Amino acid sequence: QKARSATKRFEPAVTREGRSIKVFANAADLNTAQTAKEEGAEGIGLLRSEFLFKDLKPSLEEQQKAYKEIFELFDDITVRTLDVGGDKALPYIEIPSEDNPFLGVRGVRLFHTHPELMEEQLHAIFLAAGDKPIKIMFPMISSVEEFTQTKSFAQNVAQKYQLDISHLQFGIMIEVPSVLFLLESLNDVVDFYSIGTNDLTQYLFAIERTHTLLKADALSPALFSAIERILDTATKPVSICGELAANKEAIPKLLNLGMETFSVSPRSIAQTKEEIRDV
Ligand code: PEP
Ligand code: MG
Repeated sequence: QKARSATKRFEPAVTREGRSIKVFANAADLNTAQTAKEEGAEGIGLLRSEFLFKDLKPSLEEQQKAYKEIFELFDDITVRTLDVGGDKALPYIEIPSEDNPFLGVRGVRLFHTHPELMEEQLHAIFLAAGDKPIKIMFPMISSVEEFTQTKSFAQNVAQKYQLDISHLQFGIMIEVPSVLFLLESLNDVVDFYSIGTNDLTQYLFAIERTHTLLKADALSPALFSAIERILDTATKPVSICGELAANKEAIPKLLNLGMETFSVSPRSIAQTKEEIRDV
């Protein structure tokens, strides 16, 4: 099996019925993006931008350079704006102490608490993208207004620096359950969706994803119902980028529900393609 996937990793994943499925990578820095390329990824479905913000606040130039190096590797790239807060604290970001950090200031909520930081990140992404049609994704969106306000924020940043961003797409992670009931309205405003099953599972079952004793059932019918609802209701492209996308048992079910784009960790690319070919 291993040898087979090694030779076929650059070939597309086609099911036995002849459906072509895209297999993208979740990248976390330049290194993992390069590994994704070597492993046969067709693009980056999720670029987690947190790596740049770990210890010291990066400058605009540092960010621009780092994004550009990664943007040059693939034609199809989705970059997610900073998703820290909660359990992932940053030394230079002040967030009030929270009883339930996973329900606190995290993801897109930073646009309210730290607008300068988010402005600089968007500015750097716009500069690095240049003419390339990069996709920009907001994490932890929980309402339609949150998306439209954040997109307006981005448009204002572009206007301030006189940058044309009409070729860029703006989409959301589906990881907060309220979004499941807002899809009809979101269809009118977003360009794409990506299902983050790690957080979606955490919030659906009210079990911390990092809990040492408790673990939500990754294959629960409740989660698949949620995914089915998304695929049936969305009129914009949907991909899946949580851990579930590389789960052997989940892959046939996801294909059956109509999923066409999977984004998995670089080391799972070849194996995920093989699983898809066997369906
Ligand atoms: C997710 O929540 O499923 C996801 C892909 O994002 P992260 O694991 O970075 O929160
Ligand atoms: Mg998440």
